[in-house]
Amino acid sequence: MSTIERREPNGISVLVSGAGIGGLMAALECWRIGCNVRVFERSKTNVTSGDSFTIGPSALDTFKHWPDMEKQCYEIAYYPLLSQFNLKGEKIAGPVEMSKFIHSHKVPNRIARHMRPDFHAVLLEQLKAIGIYLEYGKEVVDYFENAQGGQAGVVLEDGSKHSTDLVIAADGVRSPSWGLVAGQPVANRSSGNAIFRVAYPVEHALTDPMIAEHFQLTDDGRSVMEMWAGPGAYAMFWRNKDFMT
Ligand SMILES: Cc1cc2nc3c(=O)[nH]c(=O)nc-3n(C[C@H](O)[C@H](O)[C@H](O)COP(=O)(O)OP(=O)(O)OC[C@H]3O[C@@H](n4cnc5c(N)ncnc54)[C@H](O)[C@@H]3O)c2cc1C
Repeated sequence: MSTIERREPNGISVLVSGAGIGGLMAALECWRIGCNVRVFERSKTNVTSGDSFTIGPSALDTFKHWPDMEKQCYEIAYYPLLSQFNLKGEKIAGPVEMSKFIHSHKVPNRIARHMRPDFHAVLLEQLKAIGIYLEYGKEVVDYFENAQGGQAGVVLEDGSKHSTDLVIAADGVRSPSWGLVAGQPVANRSSGNAIFRVAYPVEHALTDPMIAEHFQLTDDGRSVMEMWAGPGAYAMFWRNKDFMT
């Protein structure tokens, strides 16, 4: 385990609500700059479900302060090729390196794609290594702040109140923090569209002849992800050596 350069303790207490990837990364970085950190998660145990996502240069740069995580981040990453199709189902681009789609003259041409459970596990392992243990089964139902007193806090489902210097509401799209942040509750609105997404081990998916024929690996063994445009819909298929969604 490499040494992490932590700044001097600054006496600031931070309470993170939500142990998704946002909350965990925030917890790590707050600890690194010297804060005392607690994390409340409503699930009873680790939930690292989900399939895959892409992170870009700004997120990857954060890892420069975390040598072990940086190493693991690249070990678990994979780099698919990408093809794009228009409304008529015609291929308009690809297969090209996925990183080409976010390349600009300002941003280094770097991205990494991960299976979400793997990425989540890297963050959890790092938190454990620095001695931050997540507090499971703690559902935040409300947030409060006292600007004059310089304190903020959360109310849990059991009615208990927890005060701290800083609260980070990382509890996802339905966060009850909207009342404070936006000055009023912000209701979710349906887009009217739906997406179905599921991941299979690739050896299972390839037992289907149609899938096996369509999603062939390139000659050098690379996988190709496909993005299809549709009327109000967006469909995406990708695969690597382990999974297919
Ligand atoms: C199909 C799909 C594809 C995506 N692809 C990408 C991609 O390629 N790249 C990318 O960057 N992003 C992608 N995203 C978005 C990405 O999943 C989210 O941006 C990311 O999960 C947000 O992380 P988070 O930690 O903020 O929230 P979440 O992952 O939603 O985590 C919230 C956490 O808070 C907990 N929680 C919720 N309510 C409470 C409460 N009241 N009290 C305590 N804990 C609570 C939850 O249990 C959960 O652990 C995709 C999303 C979807 C649905």
